[in-house]
Amino acid sequence: MSGGRSESSMSGGRSELSVSGGRSETATRPNKRRAGRAAGGLAVADSRPAIVDGVLLGARCSACGHALARADVPWCPACHGPIETAGFEPVGTVWAVTTVRIPVGRWSAPFALAYVDVTDGPRVLVHVHCAPPPAPGEKVAFTANADGDLVQIGLESADGTGDGNDA
Ligand SMILES: [Zn+2]
Repeated sequence: MSGGRSESSMSGGRSELSVSGGRSETATRPNKRRAGRAAGGLAVADSRPAIVDGVLLGARCSACGHALARADVPWCPACHGPIETAGFEPVGTVWAVTTVRIPVGRWSAPFALAYVDVTDGPRVLVHVHCAPPPAPGEKVAFTANADGDLVQIGLESADGTGDGNDA
């Protein structure tokens, strides 16, 4: 290649194809969050707590007793002390609850979310029954559904309304 006249540099700023391509891809997404593989996006780390054989997997600080809903943390986030793995019974007391009135991902509106203080354990986010949702202070039990979300199971109603939300 002789000359080296870089005409391409004059059009260097034009990258409309890739820009518009990115836009159209974004426009088809259900929301602005990173969608994950299930929605056709890139794989993202799953930070949700896991329930295996009826036990909520987590950890507890052996120095201060702080409970975590994850087992794979390097140290206690409260005191930086050493932690050891622990299992918790998936039962707790509602700390706060809200009803979401827009669809989010595979959850159609309305649906209810609650922060639940697991008995002698961590605080976790649980999809709770929607009509009506449990009040703060109420006891709830929960499990993980097939999609990996924590969902309330019946202490007060076992009909499963609000759990289903089939996509
Ligand atoms: Zn600690």
